[in-house]
Amino acid sequence: MIAFISDIHSNTEALSAVLAVVDQRKVDRLICLGDIIGYGPEPRETLRTVMARCEFSLRGNHEEGALLNASDFNPRARVAIDWTKKQLTPPACQRQESFAFWNYLDKLERSRRDGEMLLVHGSPKDPVREYIVPKDAADRAKMNEWFSLFDGARICFVGHSHVPGVYLESGRYLSPSDVGNSFELDGGEFKGQRAIVNIGSVGQPRDGDTRASFVFFDGKRVHFVRVEYAFEQTMAKIRATGALPEYLAERLANGR
Ligand code: ZN
Repeated sequence: MIAFISDIHSNTEALSAVLAVVDQRKVDRLICLGDIIGYGPEPRETLRTVMARCEFSLRGNHEEGALLNASDFNPRARVAIDWTKKQLTPPACQRQESFAFWNYLDKLERSRRDGEMLLVHGSPKDPVREYIVPKDAADRAKMNEWFSLFDGARICFVGHSHVPGVYLESGRYLSPSDVGNSFELDGGEFKGQRAIVNIGSVGQPRDGDTRASFVFFDGKRVHFVRVEYAFEQTMAKIRATGALPEYLAERLANGR
């Protein structure tokens, strides 16, 4: 059993709640699809946990924004990235730990082929930055291009849009509730079709549901999971920074 998590965004309350559920199951592997940091109030604590617990993480656009430049980020995301960079740099954190953080971020891979799986943060075409959103399912050109880049994989796990669901090769998007929160790769209408699975966001869900989102995959079946967490605490921590935009707190209470 593999647990995939993504888009934690420096939210330790959401991450702890998800890990509590993961730890109740017989999970062989815990893999992060990127955006460990950015937006939220606790980048150091979040990075520490991911570095200790995950087999590996991929590179998200927020890691890339911190490492390179965030000039293409919207203003509120950029404020958060600039603040995050400060938290990962002395004097906010010790020199040795700061070195370990930046070294880890620098080494994050952009994509990974693993057995029947392709793993990226964004899309097969642009593994770090391109969004896949529900309306794209009807865009034949985009879908064809993404599936043409599967490199022999059968299922591609992505994060980035913060909206969970499955995109079938035939051009359909199904939300987790459309499939009863779980589907079998070769079952029913999924038979013989490759799929892109967006696992949603642990730390900043945007599908109108405030609960943290992640998935389990046992090689055949994908389970979409939602976990309640104390987002009021995360909101209070965002406000207490005195630097992160209020909007980043409010959206946790709206799941948008
Ligand atoms: Zn993200």
